[in-house]
Amino acid sequence: MMPEKTLPPQEEYQMDLDLLDLLKKIISFKTVAPPGSNYREIVDWLVPVFQEMGFATRRMVMPQEVFASRCQDSRLEGDRFNLKADLDLGADKTLVIYAHLDVVPAEGAWDTDPFQAVQKEGRIYGRGVSDCKGSIAALIAALRSLLKTGRTRYNLSVLLTTDEEVGGYSGLCYLTDLGEVKGDMMLCMDGFCDDVVIGSNGIITWEATVHGRSAHSGSSFLGINAVERSIPVMQALMSLKKEVQSRRSAVPSSSALEAMGMKSLKPMLNITMINGGVKENIVPDRCTLRGDRRVIPEESMEEAMQELESALKPLEAQMELKFYPGYPPMSVNPDHPWVSEVREAVQRGMGFYPRLSGAQGSLDQAYATEKTGIPTCVFGVGRQLESNIHGLNENVRATDLMGFARFLIELLQA
Ligand SMILES: [Zn+2]
Repeated sequence: MMPEKTLPPQEEYQMDLDLLDLLKKIISFKTVAPPGSNYREIVDWLVPVFQEMGFATRRMVMPQEVFASRCQDSRLEGDRFNLKADLDLGADKTLVIYAHLDVVPAEGAWDTDPFQAVQKEGRIYGRGVSDCKGSIAALIAALRSLLKTGRTRYNLSVLLTTDEEVGGYSGLCYLTDLGEVKGDMMLCMDGFCDDVVIGSNGIITWEATVHGRSAHSGSSFLGINAVERSIPVMQALMSLKKEVQSRRSAVPSSSALEAMGMKSLKPMLNITMINGGVKENIVPDRCTLRGDRRVIPEESMEEAMQELESALKPLEAQMELKFYPGYPPMSVNPDHPWVSEVREAVQRGMGFYPRLSGAQGSLDQAYATEKTGIPTCVFGVGRQLESNIHGLNENVRATDLMGFARFLIELLQA
């Protein structure tokens, strides 16, 4: 059944043309992170685009001292330009809409130029078309079309920010700490269109350094072998892994994982790196193990760290353990009216009623949601199993991109 308030066909056609032009332009900015380049250029281009639609815009640059203390990543350089664009219509409620401006590097043998959005066989190819510049282009096209004749149902606060792909203290984290993420509900466009995501896992990176004493391996009994000493550490971690990974969250897993038999979010403990030894005939004096712990919404970051610490406690004398906590887990009440509102707008705009799910990975959105308590839905333009996000030939279905603009119209129109 066609919704009542859909745009007239000629207006939809204009919006689609506008959307493709916008996407081409946005993809052409090489906002690759790391290092995080061209943030100033893309924000300078976006400012008049939002101003012409009546938004008040602010360029919010992360101060050097904040960058130096919070983003300790030697691969990053340049200024962190974020954009905050507000449209205050005196409505009762304010909707915060978020997407990130950066993309991962586009190395390898692409079939097309990754920084030109190229349309072929029903898809558009380019770095960031799915993650998540396509959603930014769709947002602008939808707003232009809506605001030409009408108004939006809510005041809008659009946040287009830096360094999500780096995984650390992103522009969204910075705006959150400034108190600039303000509203009644939030739409994070850094997602897929397979499901509406209302939960995600938190992430803690850990590092265990096992110490020994070096010696000639011919008389290895004179030294202490740090590599061999790491074995009981790994065994302790593997038994904890078994325990951790037997837990389940109440948040359902994504459609893609559900199809593989995984019903709900699952915590993880992984050993992913090992580094030790200098030569075959030297007893190694040090071995470093690294990995991560994925934390489901029912667990706490603090408890997960304590649990790991206690598992290794009996071996403490010979090792040091360090934690680098990243984004927290996120969980939004599935019965919140905002969640139904988003799902119904998807139904009207894209023609299907989406499942609710959670992400095994972690999101900078979770940081904002935890600190502000604003109910959040994550929904974007790509498809989990076919858009090849972060890979070669990243793409988006043209119908999804245009459907996403229609979803936004359904969600936003007064
Ligand atoms: Zn993303």
